[in-house]
Amino acid sequence: MLLRLSGQRALQLITALVALSLSAAINVSVHAGGKTKLNGEADKEKTKKKDDLLQQPDSYWKTRLPPDVYKITRCSATEAPFTGKYWNLHEQGLYKCSNCGLPLFESKDKFDSGTGWPSFTRPAPDAVDTRKDQSHGMARQEVICKHCGAHLGHVFDDGPAPAGKRYCINSASLDFAAERKEEK
Ligand SMILES: [Zn+2]
Repeated sequence: MLLRLSGQRALQLITALVALSLSAAINVSVHAGGKTKLNGEADKEKTKKKDDLLQQPDSYWKTRLPPDVYKITRCSATEAPFTGKYWNLHEQGLYKCSNCGLPLFESKDKFDSGTGWPSFTRPAPDAVDTRKDQSHGMARQEVICKHCGAHLGHVFDDGPAPAGKRYCINSASLDFAAERKEEK
């Protein structure tokens, strides 16, 4: 009798243990499944966000940008020379897209072109695209932000050696972030 009871108890115990471990296994798999799904959604969201900026309608930018910035970056207007906030700036730092914040140019690549517009010898890696611009009876290469499609300015072949490029950019298309001085 004692043995039989023990046997029954042992069986109960084993059954309980199996049930426990089974439920733990199910929990783990549900958790893992949930996590995978979440990661997938996050990636999708990231991709969507990037595509979204390039596909946003004009109204999206019109409600978000100051009128002068909107006119230049979304309607390809050009600011008058010697009027923008950065043509004569000589501080060290990073010039970011005024529409989306993507780092576009570095101060070490800025030079005084005498044109009255911020001028750079090259953009940051993978930051800008160029496309043909035949407006105003000229054949020019328009420079746009790779991330959001903002009009930045034009690139010409009369820049300093060795690359010979002059990226002529509107101040309104840029947001300057000064380099942080090292703390002592
Ligand atoms: Zn941008």
